[in-house]
Amino acid sequence: MRLFDTLTRTERELRPIDGATFRFYCCGPTVYGPAHIGNFRTFVVQDVMRRVLETGGMRTLHVRNITDVDDKTIRDSQKAGMALGDFTAQWTERFHADCEALGCLPPHIEPGAVEHIPQQVAMIGTLVEKGHAYVSEDGSVYFRIASCPGYGALSHLEERELDLGKTQNARANSDEYEKDSISDFVLWKARRPEDGANFWPSPWGEGRPGWHLECSAMIHEYLGENFDLHSGGVDLVCPHHENEIAQSRCACGGDFAAHWFHITHLLVDGGKMSKSLGNLYTLDDLAAKGFTAMDVRYVLIGAHYRKPLNFTLDSLTAAREALQRLAKGARGLAARVTEGVVLDEVGFGPFQGAWDALENDLNTPGALGGLFTGLREAAALEGVDAARALAGMNRILRALGIVLPEAPAEVVVPEGVRALAEERWAARLAKDWAKTDALRTEITAAGWKMNDGKEAYTLEPLG
Ligand code: AMP
Ligand code: ZN
Repeated sequence: MRLFDTLTRTERELRPIDGATFRFYCCGPTVYGPAHIGNFRTFVVQDVMRRVLETGGMRTLHVRNITDVDDKTIRDSQKAGMALGDFTAQWTERFHADCEALGCLPPHIEPGAVEHIPQQVAMIGTLVEKGHAYVSEDGSVYFRIASCPGYGALSHLEERELDLGKTQNARANSDEYEKDSISDFVLWKARRPEDGANFWPSPWGEGRPGWHLECSAMIHEYLGENFDLHSGGVDLVCPHHENEIAQSRCACGGDFAAHWFHITHLLVDGGKMSKSLGNLYTLDDLAAKGFTAMDVRYVLIGAHYRKPLNFTLDSLTAAREALQRLAKGARGLAARVTEGVVLDEVGFGPFQGAWDALENDLNTPGALGGLFTGLREAAALEGVDAARALAGMNRILRALGIVLPEAPAEVVVPEGVRALAEERWAARLAKDWAKTDALRTEITAAGWKMNDGKEAYTLEPLG
């Protein structure tokens, strides 16, 4: 599979460095509230990348962290009057439930920042020792970006209007960053009264780690100095990922990630999501409007990950209809498979185009289109050919993580009601209107509605 790499700005083949397992890291959620559908664009696209690799026969090792200590988690746990651990546990659980509903595979390893404080303290120690970090007056420790010559390569700082010289002496202590803010950044934050009970010991005094550091420490623990791919939303390129590279290379050596995979942001109604505009949707908000998590997943993969995706409620309605059409197509194909067929090999059959799209820089809209094209091509297939096509379609669906909706339950009309309807239809054809009306009353009393068509009638249960 070929995928665009942010660092080299080229599409490159994904191959595991160790020749066996594709090992990758995704920056995970900050667990201080429910994740929104923008976050889920990133997590769903990362899930499709993993599924495509696995469908192609590759083994993967997927590590995604949980940010369970930072300015926001501490602030909001205090507002809720809860211990930080209890507060973040509840939002982590919610995140897992949402991921499951969206059909995202759980990562193989999901480390939390709080359980890796000793590793973070050790990494800061190394950085101080090697002269890449310094202690400030209040006992906080900062990374000196001037000590890291390649800083800014990922976001191509050298080509941009940002004046590195002007910002180099600035320091950032907050966990919330302006995109592209370049400054010495905090590795260890000295204890402040507003942190409450959330502080840990270190050689520089009590405090807690800065946000950028946790990923570097956990990557070092679980993936080592060289690994295959690192990923996040495009807002993380600079400074978060620049800072991760700087910390990790300066502390541990090695090349860090071989490939950088960034997902463009989701827009809602053509703009940024925000609470004040009332368009910051969670899965629950959309469920309340009658949409399933699968409808949401379909919309989220409906645009290429390098293009902005504009989310609207109309796009959800269209997704629901598309899923119904795919489900109907799959049922039709399944009905033409001869029972007991055993396939010697499983390819993609008429769905080869969908697979090619996925292998070509994860072209998910192309793959969705390929599902419909494949169904049209498979329309005349029977027996073993239909079986092959169905197997191909199912492989594409699994690679996209789509579970099709079940067929609507068949309505069984009771014998008595059917007899009344037949009698009424005959009376209607004979233009015996009194009898027609009387029989309608009886059918209604039995809880059914009879719809008269030109050449036939239908029956449906009353509300
Ligand atoms: P956070 O919980 O804020 O740390 O974000 C989790 C992930 O969601 C990160 O990879 C972010 O880059 C990503 N993200 C945040 N907002 C959006 C958005 N509107 N569209 C796509 N990804 C986003
Ligand atoms: Zn990170």
